Formats: sequence, C-alpha cells, structure tokens
Amino acid sequence: MELSIQNVSMTYPNGKEALKNLILDLKSPSLIGLLGPNGAGKSTLMKLLVTALLPTGGSIQVDGAPLKKGARQLKAKLGYLPQEFGLFDELTVTQFLDYMAALKGISNPKVAIQKAIRAVNLEEKAKSKIRTLSGGQRQRVGIAQALLGNPPFLILDEPTVGLDPEERIHFRNLFSRTAENRLVLLSTHIIEDVQSVCDQIVVIHHGKIRFAGTPEQLIQSAAGHVGVFWEKDQVQEKGLHITARVNTSQGIRCRVVADKLPAYAQADEPSLEDAYLYLISREVAQ
Ligand code: ADP
Repeated sequence: MELSIQNVSMTYPNGKEALKNLILDLKSPSLIGLLGPNGAGKSTLMKLLVTALLPTGGSIQVDGAPLKKGARQLKAKLGYLPQEFGLFDELTVTQFLDYMAALKGISNPKVAIQKAIRAVNLEEKAKSKIRTLSGGQRQRVGIAQALLGNPPFLILDEPTVGLDPEERIHFRNLFSRTAENRLVLLSTHIIEDVQSVCDQIVVIHHGKIRFAGTPEQLIQSAAGHVGVFWEKDQVQEKGLHITARVNTSQGIRCRVVADKLPAYAQADEPSLEDAYLYLISREVAQ
C-alpha cells in the first residue's frame, strides 16, 4: 500500500487556505503519527484522504492510481475512525458491526465481524448493548468497525482522547499490532502515544508540513535547544518557551526550549515533547 500526496492544497469556499502544497509519500507497513496544534489542518488532510473533501490543488495517488471522490477502489482499502463517531446505543456490538459491514458492502460479514471483535479484544462484550460499555470499550468498537474487512490503510482521528492511562496503553499496543502489515495514520495530541508506537511522525502547522521523519530525527533536531534552570535565575528574555515548571523543596525548576539557551540554563537531553514544542515555537516566532 502506497499513498502519495502530490502538491495538495485545500482552500475552503470561504477562502480559508487550510492546506498548502503538501508533499508526502507514505508506504506500508508503517504507523505514522500526525501531530499539529488545533487548526493546523490535520482533519482537513484526513477528510481529503477519505474523499469526504476534494483538494482544490494537486492530487492524491493510492497505489499509483489517482484518488477520486467516493472511489470504490479506496472504500475497500480504507478503515476510518473519525473523531466524532456515533454508535447506536441500543444495538449490541455484533449488531452494530453487522450494520457497518453492510454499509461497507463486506461479502462475508460474519467472519469479518468475528475477526474485528477478536482484534480489539471485545469477545466478552460481543452480545452486550453498546450503552452498557465503558468509554474505552466504545472506542474499541469504533476501531473494530474500522478494521472490518481487513483494510490495508487505517485512519484514526484522535482515538485515545478521553481514555485513562491504562486504556491508552492497551490501545497503543493494539495500534502497534494493527500496523504490522498496514499503513496506519494516527492523529493525536498525545505525544506519549506517538513516542511509544509510531515509526514516522508528520507535523503540520498552518497548513504546511513542518517535519516528516522518525521520532529520533525529530528529537535530534532539538539537541542543544533544551535546558533547565531555577526560576530565581531567570531574567526575562525573548524567545524563551517554558515547557515545564515544577515546585521543589529547593525552589521552582523550569524546563525551557529556545533557539539560543540563556547562559543560566543547563542544557538537557530533549524529549519528543520538547522537540515538538521547539518546532512549533519556532514556527510561531517566525
Ligand atoms: P485541525 O484538525 O488540525 O485542528 P482543521 O483541518 O480542522 O485543523 O482546520 C484547518 C483550518 O481550516 C482551520 O483554520 C479551520 O478553522 C479551517 N476550516 C476547517 N474546516 C473548515 C470549513 N468547513 N470551512 C472553512 N474553514 C474551515
């Protein structure tokens, strides 16, 4: 499975330029973390990939063929978990998945449903009504419907929002297993999710790709730009972005990202979060 985004732009009818000349090539197997602040253009990109929108410029190719609106070619290849996903509370998990399988035109729904339920570890709840499920279990139903028919390409839009840490870890492991033989695009605000499972990261900001590469490369890009200092040492300086402020018995310890670290800061190893914040803070400063 290969996805090629060629010079894609998206301007909404009101004139808002949400994406500007995006160029990106993605190949399976890979789990790609899509990061960016609110309003960066992530959802717009996902809507283009699921053909809910058509680009106003450029083109998207799937396995060498241009993507067209409502294309059957993609429908069979794509599993999508949107951010706002309506479940039917009065249906059981199996009934709901049966309904989704019918919408997707899956030819052998019984087997496909069993597989999807097993993949998300919901066998025990297969006959339970959706309204009786916990938040995490409901999200698992959402992922199960995306997995129906075993599509080689999965798009998951903020799938771990609202989950507790234990459930998030469960999900990360599930995504990681899911991506063993697929292309999975995971949009999230949660850096830890990306750090623990993604082999590639794409950062979008103001409608443009600001970074595409491995998590290690992103971390490397912030080397020498992360420091720590005690707050009492701080002199007000422009271009400093405090990313953490911890009260300790010895005073307030701050973590900072900056193009040029002040002399009173002691350099520290960047985390993925530092590197992401450094990248975004530079964009804001420009
Ligand atoms: P993200 O998912 O990263 O938060 P979006 O793709 O939703 O970002 O939005 C990108 C930009 O496009 C934002 O400035 C947003 O306000 C704008 N936008 C999104 N949808 C529409 C729309 N239907 N009409 C006009 N502008 C839109």
